Amino acid sequence: FFISFEGVDGAGKSSHMERVRQHLDSLGIECVQTREPGGTPVGEAIRELVLHHDMDINTELLLMYAARRQHVVQTIAPALARGAWVISDRFEDSSFAYQASAGGAVWEDCVKLSKWALKGFEPALTFLFDLPIAVSQARIQARAGQGDKFEGKPISYFEAVRAGFIRRAQINPTRVRLIDAEPDETTVAKAVLAELDRFIHT
Ligand code: C5P
Repeated sequence: FFISFEGVDGAGKSSHMERVRQHLDSLGIECVQTREPGGTPVGEAIRELVLHHDMDINTELLLMYAARRQHVVQTIAPALARGAWVISDRFEDSSFAYQASAGGAVWEDCVKLSKWALKGFEPALTFLFDLPIAVSQARIQARAGQGDKFEGKPISYFEAVRAGFIRRAQINPTRVRLIDAEPDETTVAKAVLAELDRFIHT
């Protein structure tokens, strides 16, 4: 199965993804861990471009989908084909949240691009880590910055990212599990593993 982890920075998705990997390992499930933008040499090169260069938002959207298509073709699909699970730190919900909802690209363009580039391919399960932006911002400030162009964006930008993710969850209620990421890490981890077990047993 393919599982994606989504949310604004500071929501804790990366550390919970690591716990999920450990849990799948303990069940003897082969698990490929990857990320977006990235996940292939082409995707990582595009990540460098997008994270450090200001550009037209539709150029950025196209690059994200170029990276994503390569990610699916080269990394995700082959792993799934041999029976492994794939867990990805971000996937296309991030494009709806960052490029469309917050960045100003047209939501419907994103839908069209998705259909064209991915032909309906999507995660079986998505964890969306949701929390108030004031809380995620406080968490980010407590750690070293990544030095990308998204740092220093106004709160309204991150509010729009959050709203975009929530809209995706509302449109895809079966795939997307909304996780309240505001409590302490242990509480959130329990919620994630409970959802994961529910997914494994259905
Ligand atoms: O999750 P990670 O920290 O690797 O993401 C790096 C940054 O890339 C995020 O903070 C986000 O601002 C940006 N991003 C984006 N659009 C995407 C995915 C990530 O703007 N589709």
